[in-house]
Amino acid sequence: MTDIDNKSPVVFLDRDGTLNIDTEYIGTPEGFTLFDGAALGVKRLNDAGVKAMVVTNQSGLGRGYFTEADLKAVNDRLEEILLEEGAAKLDGIYYCPHHPDDNCKCRKPETGLVEQASSQHAIDMGRAFVIGDKESDILLAKNIGAKGILILTGHGEITLGELKEKEGAVTPDFVANNMEDATKWILKELEVLS
Ligand SMILES: [Mg+2]
Ligand SMILES: [Zn+2]
Repeated sequence: MTDIDNKSPVVFLDRDGTLNIDTEYIGTPEGFTLFDGAALGVKRLNDAGVKAMVVTNQSGLGRGYFTEADLKAVNDRLEEILLEEGAAKLDGIYYCPHHPDDNCKCRKPETGLVEQASSQHAIDMGRAFVIGDKESDILLAKNIGAKGILILTGHGEITLGELKEKEGAVTPDFVANNMEDATKWILKELEVLS
Protein backbone atom coordinates (compact mmCIF):
# COMPACT_ATOMS: atom_id res chain seq x y z
CA MET A 1 0.00 0.00 0.00
CA THR A 2 1.76 3.13 -1.13
CA ASP A 3 0.73 6.43 0.35
CA ILE A 4 1.95 9.41 -1.62
CA ASP A 5 0.53 11.75 1.01
CA ASN A 6 1.40 9.43 3.91
CA LYS A 7 -2.19 9.00 4.88
CA SER A 8 -3.20 5.55 6.03
CA PRO A 9 -6.39 3.67 5.41
CA VAL A 10 -8.41 3.37 8.58
CA VAL A 11 -10.80 0.97 10.26
CA PHE A 12 -13.10 2.37 12.90
CA LEU A 13 -13.87 -0.44 15.29
CA ASP A 14 -16.78 -0.67 17.61
CA ARG A 15 -15.72 -2.07 21.00
CA ASP A 16 -18.47 -3.95 22.85
CA GLY A 17 -19.92 -6.83 20.84
CA THR A 18 -17.24 -6.40 18.18
CA LEU A 19 -13.90 -6.84 19.94
CA ASN A 20 -15.16 -8.13 23.28
CA ILE A 21 -18.17 -9.79 24.85
CA ASP A 22 -20.78 -7.13 25.55
CA THR A 23 -21.95 -7.54 29.12
CA GLU A 24 -23.58 -4.07 28.94
CA TYR A 25 -22.16 -0.96 30.60
CA ILE A 26 -18.76 -2.49 31.26
CA GLY A 27 -17.29 -0.53 34.16
CA THR A 28 -14.65 -2.91 35.40
CA PRO A 29 -11.81 -4.83 33.71
CA GLU A 30 -12.65 -8.02 35.61
CA GLY A 31 -14.22 -10.55 33.28
CA PHE A 32 -13.42 -8.47 30.19
CA THR A 33 -13.15 -11.04 27.38
CA LEU A 34 -12.01 -10.64 23.77
CA PHE A 35 -13.70 -12.62 21.02
CA ASP A 36 -11.67 -15.23 19.17
CA GLY A 37 -10.09 -13.61 16.15
CA ALA A 38 -10.22 -10.08 17.56
CA ALA A 39 -6.52 -9.82 18.35
CA LEU A 40 -5.59 -11.53 15.10
CA GLY A 41 -7.81 -9.17 13.15
CA VAL A 42 -6.31 -6.05 14.70
CA LYS A 43 -2.81 -7.42 14.19
CA ARG A 44 -3.54 -7.97 10.53
CA LEU A 45 -4.51 -4.30 10.21
CA ASN A 46 -1.36 -3.25 12.06
CA ASP A 47 0.82 -5.30 9.72
CA ALA A 48 -0.87 -3.87 6.62
CA GLY A 49 -0.34 -0.27 7.78
CA VAL A 50 -4.06 0.27 8.30
CA LYS A 51 -4.97 2.37 11.32
CA ALA A 52 -7.20 0.63 13.87
CA MET A 53 -9.26 3.06 15.91
CA VAL A 54 -11.90 2.19 18.44
CA VAL A 55 -15.00 4.39 18.37
CA THR A 56 -17.41 3.49 21.14
CA ASN A 57 -20.59 4.81 22.72
CA GLN A 58 -20.15 4.67 26.51
CA SER A 59 -23.39 6.08 27.83
CA GLY A 60 -22.69 4.29 31.12
CA LEU A 61 -20.73 7.45 31.88
CA GLY A 62 -23.63 9.79 31.16
CA ARG A 63 -25.95 7.50 33.09
CA GLY A 64 -23.61 7.59 36.08
CA TYR A 65 -22.99 3.82 36.06
CA PHE A 66 -19.22 4.22 36.03
CA THR A 67 -16.53 6.89 36.00
CA GLU A 68 -13.94 7.99 33.44
CA ALA A 69 -11.32 6.21 35.57
CA ASP A 70 -13.35 2.98 35.41
CA LEU A 71 -13.62 3.31 31.64
CA LYS A 72 -9.89 3.93 31.35
CA ALA A 73 -9.20 0.75 33.35
CA VAL A 74 -11.39 -1.23 30.93
CA ASN A 75 -9.76 0.30 27.86
CA ASP A 76 -6.31 -0.35 29.34
CA ARG A 77 -7.30 -3.98 29.81
CA LEU A 78 -8.48 -4.14 26.19
CA GLU A 79 -5.09 -2.89 24.98
CA GLU A 80 -3.28 -5.26 27.33
CA ILE A 81 -5.15 -8.35 26.10
CA LEU A 82 -4.74 -7.37 22.44
CA LEU A 83 -1.01 -7.19 23.04
CA GLU A 84 -0.88 -10.46 25.00
CA GLU A 85 -3.08 -12.47 22.68
CA GLY A 86 -1.93 -11.20 19.33
CA ALA A 87 0.84 -8.58 19.64
CA ALA A 88 -1.86 -6.25 18.32
CA LYS A 89 -2.23 -2.56 19.04
CA LEU A 90 -4.85 0.13 18.62
CA ASP A 91 -3.98 3.50 17.11
CA GLY A 92 -6.59 5.28 19.17
CA ILE A 93 -9.64 4.88 21.38
CA TYR A 94 -12.41 7.47 21.09
CA TYR A 95 -15.57 7.34 23.16
CA CYS A 96 -18.81 9.21 23.54
CA PRO A 97 -19.47 9.75 27.26
CA HIS A 98 -22.95 11.17 26.81
CA HIS A 99 -26.44 10.04 27.66
CA PRO A 100 -28.55 9.37 24.54
CA ASP A 101 -30.86 12.24 25.57
CA ASP A 102 -27.95 14.70 25.46
CA ASN A 103 -28.21 14.94 21.65
CA CYS A 104 -24.45 15.27 21.38
CA LYS A 105 -22.51 15.22 18.12
CA CYS A 106 -20.37 12.21 19.04
CA ARG A 107 -22.77 9.41 19.90
CA LYS A 108 -22.74 7.00 16.96
CA PRO A 109 -24.20 7.24 14.33
CA GLU A 110 -23.18 10.89 14.73
CA THR A 111 -19.70 11.53 13.35
CA GLY A 112 -17.95 13.44 16.17
CA LEU A 113 -15.66 10.59 17.23
CA VAL A 114 -14.46 10.06 13.67
CA GLU A 115 -13.82 13.80 13.33
CA GLN A 116 -11.74 13.73 16.51
CA ALA A 117 -9.73 10.78 15.20
CA SER A 118 -9.16 12.27 11.77
CA SER A 119 -8.01 15.57 13.26
CA GLN A 120 -5.35 13.76 15.30
CA HIS A 121 -4.08 11.17 12.81
CA ALA A 122 -2.99 11.15 9.18
CA ILE A 123 -5.82 9.01 7.89
CA ASP A 124 -7.29 8.72 4.44
CA MET A 125 -11.05 9.05 4.79
CA GLY A 126 -11.38 7.84 1.20
CA ARG A 127 -10.21 4.43 2.42
CA ALA A 128 -12.23 4.13 5.62
CA PHE A 129 -14.19 1.23 7.06
CA VAL A 130 -16.40 0.71 10.08
CA ILE A 131 -16.86 -2.65 11.80
CA GLY A 132 -19.66 -3.01 14.32
CA ASP A 133 -22.53 -5.13 15.59
CA LYS A 134 -25.29 -2.51 15.63
CA GLU A 135 -27.25 -0.48 13.12
CA SER A 136 -25.64 2.68 14.50
CA ASP A 137 -22.25 1.38 13.37
CA ILE A 138 -23.44 0.79 9.82
CA LEU A 139 -25.16 4.18 9.80
CA LEU A 140 -21.94 5.78 10.99
CA ALA A 141 -20.20 4.21 7.99
CA LYS A 142 -22.77 5.76 5.65
CA ASN A 143 -22.50 9.12 7.42
CA ILE A 144 -18.74 9.30 6.87
CA GLY A 145 -18.75 7.76 3.37
CA ALA A 146 -17.01 4.60 4.58
CA LYS A 147 -17.75 0.94 3.97
CA GLY A 148 -19.78 -0.62 6.76
CA ILE A 149 -19.18 -4.17 7.94
CA LEU A 150 -21.76 -5.80 10.16
CA ILE A 151 -20.13 -8.35 12.42
CA LEU A 152 -22.21 -11.27 13.65
CA THR A 153 -20.65 -11.39 17.10
CA GLY A 154 -22.35 -9.54 19.96
CA HIS A 155 -25.68 -8.06 18.88
CA GLY A 156 -24.87 -8.70 15.19
CA GLU A 157 -27.23 -11.60 14.47
CA ILE A 158 -30.12 -9.62 15.94
CA THR A 159 -29.11 -6.51 14.00
CA LEU A 160 -28.98 -8.49 10.75
CA GLY A 161 -32.53 -9.74 11.35
CA GLU A 162 -33.77 -6.26 12.20
CA LEU A 163 -32.22 -4.71 9.09
CA LYS A 164 -33.85 -7.36 6.91
CA GLU A 165 -37.27 -6.61 8.42
CA LYS A 166 -37.01 -2.86 8.20
CA GLU A 167 -38.04 -1.08 5.04
CA GLY A 168 -35.45 1.31 3.67
CA ALA A 169 -32.88 0.13 6.22
CA VAL A 170 -29.20 0.69 5.69
CA THR A 171 -27.39 -2.19 3.98
CA PRO A 172 -24.00 -3.32 5.24
CA ASP A 173 -21.32 -3.57 2.55
CA PHE A 174 -20.27 -6.87 4.07
CA VAL A 175 -21.49 -9.22 6.77
CA ALA A 176 -18.65 -10.89 8.68
CA ASN A 177 -18.72 -13.81 11.08
CA ASN A 178 -15.95 -12.35 13.22
CA MET A 179 -13.02 -9.93 13.22
CA GLU A 180 -10.82 -12.32 11.31
CA ASP A 181 -13.37 -12.47 8.52
CA ALA A 182 -13.99 -8.75 8.56
CA THR A 183 -10.35 -7.74 8.34
CA LYS A 184 -9.63 -10.28 5.62
CA TRP A 185 -12.40 -8.69 3.53
CA ILE A 186 -11.09 -5.19 4.20
CA LEU A 187 -7.57 -6.02 3.12
CA LYS A 188 -8.91 -7.53 -0.08
CA GLU A 189 -10.94 -4.35 -0.72
CA LEU A 190 -7.87 -2.21 -0.15
CA GLU A 191 -5.90 -4.14 -2.74
CA VAL A 192 -8.60 -3.22 -5.20
CA LEU A 193 -8.58 0.41 -4.14
CA SER A 194 -4.84 1.00 -4.11
MG1 LIG B 1 -21.34 -2.85 19.81
ZN1 LIG C 1 -21.36 12.17 22.74
